[in-house]
Amino acid sequence: MASTGVPVCRQCRREGTKLYLKGYRCYGKKCPFSRPEAPFPPGQHGRGRPSKLSDYGQQLREKQKLRRIYGLREKQFRLYVREAERRRGVTGENLLQLLEMRLDNVVFRLGFAASRLQARQFVSHGHIRVNGRKVHIPSYQLRPGDRVDVVEESRKMQPLQDAMKAAGTGTVPPWLKLDAAAYAGEVLSAPQRDEINTDVQEALIVEFYSR
Ligand code: SF4
Repeated sequence: MASTGVPVCRQCRREGTKLYLKGYRCYGKKCPFSRPEAPFPPGQHGRGRPSKLSDYGQQLREKQKLRRIYGLREKQFRLYVREAERRRGVTGENLLQLLEMRLDNVVFRLGFAASRLQARQFVSHGHIRVNGRKVHIPSYQLRPGDRVDVVEESRKMQPLQDAMKAAGTGTVPPWLKLDAAAYAGEVLSAPQRDEINTDVQEALIVEFYSR
């Protein structure tokens, strides 16, 4: 996950919703959103009366939300939008599909990491293979039929063990198949929109970039 220089919880406060950027902490009492009062937006005027967003403002917030969920810099995110536009089909769905098929995202979805940030570290530190070969590139685009596994020497890593224990086996989306005993997973197909639980209005993001 590219460092944006903004503390992760602050990013959630900015978007007014949980983006689940910190792994286990996001599910516990330490998450600012677990407090009785919803956290206010960051910044000097964060506590002020919430302003009504313009159409542009809504599109911008939605774009920032998705970009932050997947931990991308603006330039990289824009390249995904352009690629989504180039492909056949609905641009917003293409965009989500491209983001979901990133190797770091799949490592996270398979439950090998507690967050996309941790998944990204596992990939760049050489703990992950694709079709038997080590891949160090978190943005690597997987295809249906690809097999992802954890290299043997890395399987005992405590962060990986903790993540797999916490994830269990019930949370893997239907377009992936997990073989937890083999520390492996397979991409069965490209995900459809209803198989992606990312809470975002992608049509607004497409509008943002077509202005
Ligand atoms: Fe967001 Fe997680 Fe921080 Fe909660 S703990 S504000 S979900 S990053």
